[in-house]
Amino acid sequence: MVIFSGIQPTGRKHLGNYIGAITQYVAGQDRGDPAIYCVVDMHAVTVDYDPTALRERVYDTAATLIAAGLDPKRCIFFRQGDVKEHTELSWLLASVTPVGELSRMHQFRDKSLAQREMVSAGLLFYPVLMAADVLAYRAHEVPVGEDQREHLELMRDAAVRFNRRFGKALIVPEARIPEVGARIRDLQDPTRKMSTTGTPAGTVYVLDEPAAILKKFKRAVTDSGEGIVRAPDKPGISNLIEILAAVRGVAPEAIESEFADSRYGDFKVAVGEAVADYLAPVRERYGDLRADEGVLEGMLAQGAERARAIASGTLADVRERMGVGPARRSVGPAA
Ligand code: ATP
Ligand code: MG
Repeated sequence: MVIFSGIQPTGRKHLGNYIGAITQYVAGQDRGDPAIYCVVDMHAVTVDYDPTALRERVYDTAATLIAAGLDPKRCIFFRQGDVKEHTELSWLLASVTPVGELSRMHQFRDKSLAQREMVSAGLLFYPVLMAADVLAYRAHEVPVGEDQREHLELMRDAAVRFNRRFGKALIVPEARIPEVGARIRDLQDPTRKMSTTGTPAGTVYVLDEPAAILKKFKRAVTDSGEGIVRAPDKPGISNLIEILAAVRGVAPEAIESEFADSRYGDFKVAVGEAVADYLAPVRERYGDLRADEGVLEGMLAQGAERARAIASGTLADVRERMGVGPARRSVGPAA
């Protein structure tokens, strides 16, 4: 079982990333053979960004993931830009990806509307690079949040189309989306997912101080009426129930019955305190890890070497089947 997932170097990862993706990465280390994770710096250049800050944010994100429990001895952990096979495969997969589908992706539509200046071709191409990330390792399983379901479908289609046209060289991967916490919502606007570009007061960061976390939960928008129950017309309370269930590792029903007689205010404090306790150890470990960029760099470089060893094999097969470069048998006998 090969597991692969990538995360953007936005530096300050939020509670949605943590519950929806990062906890799954950590758990995947026990099942993956191997589990492969990367910080996707090449994806980050598709929207407006600062080159100096990008490098820093890669270290921030890497230190956050290690603090959360990724262990380079139990997984392959690297920076996407260090393994050139990703971008090469992305170009080759473009030949089996319809441009119409790319332009219909929700993330493309949302992010292109948010761009104040140019909408780059890279933003349109984002899901093709993401397909290459996964397919280069012939991964079976991709742990992601609910918002990535559409991109996973596109990459599955690309793998199927490639295999049909050129012969079977790629594995068609499955998304692994958690049952609870796949779409954590913004505390101030529970109609939207919690996001890097969400509201400041509604976005809880993994590295927030406990007092700041509690304050954000106390101010969380709730719904009219009362009762700690999930319902379509109660997106605020439903979100808080789901967050507490994910943090405690229990079913949402258990939270509903435990807090059946509670008022909104008391429930918000309970969730805030639980999240603050949950994230505190990660914040404490982060400081030391982030302080040594040399160690982080060495770790990412070693991970890249291991990743390249796998991806280069896939690329050799893909090039061979697509007729790119010399045929393997015409290379001549090894010296
Ligand atoms: P951006 O809004 O800039 O895309 P992001 O918040 O989505 O940033 P990513 O690094 O793109 O952050 O996402 C990393 C992982 O976290 C992905 O697997 C994604 O599906 C998951 N994820 C993102 N937001 C949430 C959320 N609100 N709830 C659960 N999972 C999430
Ligand atoms: Mg995202």
